[in-house]
Amino acid sequence: MAPTEPAAALAPHLTPQPPAAAGGPAAALAARAPKRWLPRRVLVTASAAQTAHGQQVLERVRAAGVEDVQVLRADRLPALRGADERATYALAKSTLAVVTSPPSARRLVPIPPSADWRLDLATGCPAHCQYCYLAGSLAGPPVTRVYADLPQVLSAMDAHVGRGAVTTGGARHGEGTTFEASCYTDPLGIEHLTGSLAATISHVGTHEWAGPVGLRFTTKFDDVAPLLDLPHGGRTRVRFSVNSAGPSGGERFEGGTARVRERLGALRRLALAGYPVGLTIAPVIPAPGWQDAYGQLLDDVAAATAGVPDLDLTAEVITHRFSPKSREVLLGWYPATKLEMDPGQRATKRGKYGSVKHVYVKETMADVRGWFDRELAARVPAARLLYFT
Ligand code: SF4
Repeated sequence: MAPTEPAAALAPHLTPQPPAAAGGPAAALAARAPKRWLPRRVLVTASAAQTAHGQQVLERVRAAGVEDVQVLRADRLPALRGADERATYALAKSTLAVVTSPPSARRLVPIPPSADWRLDLATGCPAHCQYCYLAGSLAGPPVTRVYADLPQVLSAMDAHVGRGAVTTGGARHGEGTTFEASCYTDPLGIEHLTGSLAATISHVGTHEWAGPVGLRFTTKFDDVAPLLDLPHGGRTRVRFSVNSAGPSGGERFEGGTARVRERLGALRRLALAGYPVGLTIAPVIPAPGWQDAYGQLLDDVAAATAGVPDLDLTAEVITHRFSPKSREVLLGWYPATKLEMDPGQRATKRGKYGSVKHVYVKETMADVRGWFDRELAARVPAARLLYFT
């Protein structure tokens, strides 16, 4: 999904710029309109409407121009099903529900290899990626639900500080206790409507914690202007999910997101604003010519991060995989997809509780891993590889 042009031919937002502030690259980048989702319909449950954050979301969606905003009399959402699966998909993907969190959202669970704990500000995503990892993970129609009781959700964090097996107790202990906010949503993709991410970044940056803490999330969107001046305290790492471009690249399977080149421009802006940043290179699809395509992506990353003072850049590399359930759901949503999801071509990986994932065969995994180890070090030496899976 990265642009295939040489770095020198990239749009100005990828061209290395001196690390100036006002009137410099940040101002130049702001000229491009960011990708923003506008739901057709917003449903607000009665309890959500009574919260201060729910009220703020209501104001935001009205200000954004959503005409169909319904405040419900109860907390149960109406049926979100259409006449068939495609109609259900279209209806759900164009709906934002503002709800209060279920108790499970406040019982944080480990989320290796990304972070110590999963922190859900919302579930669901308005974009249309044909490999979406949410397919099969979330039950029911793919509606986006944002939690209006944000203070309650955030209050669950304190009890987890100093606990965790990924960064608190693992090799990445320099990151402190980490909380991952993008397991079940793309929080930046809905931020213009929710404000939840800015509130969370500010909370993490300013709250007095019992020990070192890190918030992290990954995104395929680029509307970062509202985040630039937040008191993040260097405690939030924003990773951009990126992929290769071209006829067999991963970017062609994405819809409704910002383009990769825009994401890299957004990464640069955040890095200049002092945020730790990162790449989630995912899902890696080793289609014919993949080395050239991912090589171009890495070169574009190098160009986008050139000249950033004190750059703190990480990389996570995740190969494409699917489960029987996600395959079934994705083929229902995208019946004409060209994405290879053939269990016969894959190795099977079994999880602790008997879950099944279809991953690339051992030789392919070794090839891809070796290539990224080598090329990341050579082309983007500033990037620290956190894990490959
Ligand atoms: S942006 Fe992420 S969460 Fe949203 S549809 Fe694409 S893969 Fe799924």
